[in-house]
Amino acid sequence: MDANIKRTGTEGKERARQEQHTRTADFVMTDYRLLINGSLVEGAGTLEVINPATGGILTDAPRADRAQLDQAVAAAKAAFPYWSATPLRKRGVLLVKLAEALAAEQDEFARLLTEEQGKPLPQAIDEIAHSIATIRYFATLDLPLEVVKEDSKQKVIRQRKPLGVVAAITPWNLPMLLLMIKVAPALLAGNTVVAKPAPTTPLTTLKFGELCARILPAGVVNIIVDQNDLGTALTSHPDVAKVAFTGSTATGKKVMESAARTLKRLTLELGGNDAAIVLEDADPKEVAPKIYAGAMFNAGQACIGIKRVYVHESIYDATCDELGRLAQGTVVGDGLEQGTQMGPIQNKVQFEKVKEFVEDARQNGKIVAGNGALEREGYFIQPTIVRDISDNARLVREEQFGPVLPVLRYSDIDDVITRANDTDFGLGGSVWSSDRDRAFGVAARINAGTVWVNKHLDVGLDTPFAGAKQSGIGVEMGQEGLEEFTQATIINMAK
Ligand code: NAD
Repeated sequence: MDANIKRTGTEGKERARQEQHTRTADFVMTDYRLLINGSLVEGAGTLEVINPATGGILTDAPRADRAQLDQAVAAAKAAFPYWSATPLRKRGVLLVKLAEALAAEQDEFARLLTEEQGKPLPQAIDEIAHSIATIRYFATLDLPLEVVKEDSKQKVIRQRKPLGVVAAITPWNLPMLLLMIKVAPALLAGNTVVAKPAPTTPLTTLKFGELCARILPAGVVNIIVDQNDLGTALTSHPDVAKVAFTGSTATGKKVMESAARTLKRLTLELGGNDAAIVLEDADPKEVAPKIYAGAMFNAGQACIGIKRVYVHESIYDATCDELGRLAQGTVVGDGLEQGTQMGPIQNKVQFEKVKEFVEDARQNGKIVAGNGALEREGYFIQPTIVRDISDNARLVREEQFGPVLPVLRYSDIDDVITRANDTDFGLGGSVWSSDRDRAFGVAARINAGTVWVNKHLDVGLDTPFAGAKQSGIGVEMGQEGLEEFTQATIINMAK
């Protein structure tokens, strides 16, 4: 791992830049910095950021070492007394300024997001717009004192206090939005933050650090980048009070283990294997485009994307045909090219995993549309629809996190609910029917944090979002999502 660290003496850095210039036509002149204690600083090393649409190097990003992680946590700890004592409304005003600054540069952020993440530019624009809306939303919330009860003998009040230093750890599929969902409520509640993006998508987070450096007091937000090597140091750090983590279930378990040493507060938003159940009264032509969109959004790299579809036998063939037609008509390509509807898989490791899922589908099912990787540079997978696949296939049991969708047949509603629930995941699910009351009855039997009816992937800013079973612990979004960044103190007064 350390071999990947290039020491950043001025000379070495210049040489690295020149080498990079000659290595790839994708070279973009960048000058990214970590944010530690209000200063934009070079990393102890660098790491290469790859453009997934080409497989070539996009740029270098600074990479922190353990000492810089400790400096970031120390800065956040030192800023906490001042920031937590700043009135909540004043913190809200600074959040609005952050949102305004992001809005002023939204085009640059969106383009950079497409370059590092791969998603089509219109979807990157959407992600930045949602990020801005998220900051603005949290800036409107409040944490008032609540009277829990009052009678002739006592008055009991609940106060919500900030926790301290929050570690915000994010994955590579929605790097900006998932960061804002953590940073905005953490700051409004009076916490300070050390944020760490995924190593393959650090750039938009680092650019956000430039806005924080301009707007927030020193140390309130700190941003470090690692190469998957500083996570444990951050989540076990004695001066970190809470970890707000989004990522895979496997990593979430490690986070929980290392956070246990100092009993940190945790929010874990983890993997999913959402089932969509299509009842026999649904119209395949009407529901297929919505199901397809729910599965293929972000090239299938969404925690709450549809990962398995169960269709009643009476409309099974028609639904498979519709989904196959949609897959064939999807324009896959570089997210910066106009007309692209689906971008590449974000990184090579995931690209290889998704190719394995396609292979599994070939062996255990029948491919209706799509044929694995595209024969071109970059990490492109054709949207793939698979039918007549066994419940035990990897593609059905595991989280594929790519544009490969299994469609399964059922005849009995009780049986399909059992099959949908037969998983350790419990993030989301959906039921599709022309009879909403009937669909509600089925939705109520799905064991997941969110179940939609006749839609999927709709997460409202004011609607609590949480994973059941091994899809997570704790809540994000809404007032509850804000309160997760606080400790309730009960003040019980005699009268
Ligand atoms: P990942 O678990 O590999 O990485 C997530 C983050 O954790 C990265 O920043 C990574 O550097 C960091 N990390 C790695 N090892 C760590 C450790 N030991 N301790 C602490 N942090 C560590 O996940 P990924 O591959 O980046 O993202 C894909 C996964 O994220 C999928 O499983 C997906 O379902 C999940 N996800 C969940 C949600 C949700 O809200 N539930 C949203 C988006 C993505």
